[in-house]
Amino acid sequence: MDEFSFINSIKPKFYQQSSLLKGIGDDAAVFRSSMDIVTAVDTFVEDVHFSRSTMEPYHIGYRALGANISDLAAMGASPSFYLVSIVIPKNWIQEELSQIYLGMDDLASKYHMDIIGGDTVSGKQLTISITVIGYTNTNKARCRQHAKEGDIVFVTGTLGDSQAGFHILTNENNRYIDQDFYIGRHRKPEPRVAFAQALESLERVSLNDVSDGIANEASEIAEASNVSIVLSENDIPVSRSFNQFTYEQQYQWKLSGGEDFELLGTVAKYDWDVVKKAAEQTNTQLTIIGNVIEENKHPVYIEDNDVRKGLKKSGYTHLK
Ligand code: ADP
Ligand code: MG
Repeated sequence: MDEFSFINSIKPKFYQQSSLLKGIGDDAAVFRSSMDIVTAVDTFVEDVHFSRSTMEPYHIGYRALGANISDLAAMGASPSFYLVSIVIPKNWIQEELSQIYLGMDDLASKYHMDIIGGDTVSGKQLTISITVIGYTNTNKARCRQHAKEGDIVFVTGTLGDSQAGFHILTNENNRYIDQDFYIGRHRKPEPRVAFAQALESLERVSLNDVSDGIANEASEIAEASNVSIVLSENDIPVSRSFNQFTYEQQYQWKLSGGEDFELLGTVAKYDWDVVKKAAEQTNTQLTIIGNVIEENKHPVYIEDNDVRKGLKKSGYTHLK
């Protein structure tokens, strides 16, 4: 199939966003907005960010767009458009490419997002670069530098599931409890868009999505806000059957496994009820996992039975 028919095959039959003036088919797309525009790009390279031994083409598309939408969620933005730049190697057949786009399309339709452009080239390694565009009301984008001493630290969902899923997929001879659940969490992440949007009324909240693990995301918030964060090890939420893995695996995956695409945030104590209500309204699991303290030697500490240790971005601890 030539490039022209390929582009034609991914062109939507209709667009959902009313602000769109021109979608796929011209030199560039056009949309109109009076809102604050939020945009991000992420690139995924075969055998670096994903492998065909653990992902079907459908999942590659679903997860690549999911990771991007998660960045919009972490800004409190409503997803609206995406553009896909793809490098296609010769050994990928048309049906597999269609599956990548179907994976993206299935997730996008949950958010009424439209694909409005991209670029198609051939090359040695399958590479997908997705640009997402969303919007917030004026000055409502949720930045990392808004944590303050005394804030509550919270996280949505459970952590470490995606790494557990990856572990299961790469250790196929073993049997695990809730296998399909963990594999699903790895292949089809669901970004926390609705929860972040339900925080709209808050004057101040910092948010970061868990792409590299909470050890890393917490330190990004701490450094941007000039504070330190204390996490309570036993409060970090994990799935019901997570204790089937070794203590070291659990510790490593929940703190630095990453790719769970949950949201980590900090908020003032007096605003906690708003956060709780947002979680209830959007059916989101929500857990308090720590608090914000004055800037200290380490950006992040982990506490277990009143013993407080510095936590590295990688999830490793060092003695105080
Ligand atoms: P140009 O030469 O102007 O860059 P292209 O032939 O690359 O035009 O693209 C034609 C149209 O198809 C444009 O609207 C472009 O955004 C869109 N497009 C090209 N490749 C892709 C892709 N992989 N995914 C989505 N849209 C694409
Ligand atoms: Mg082009």
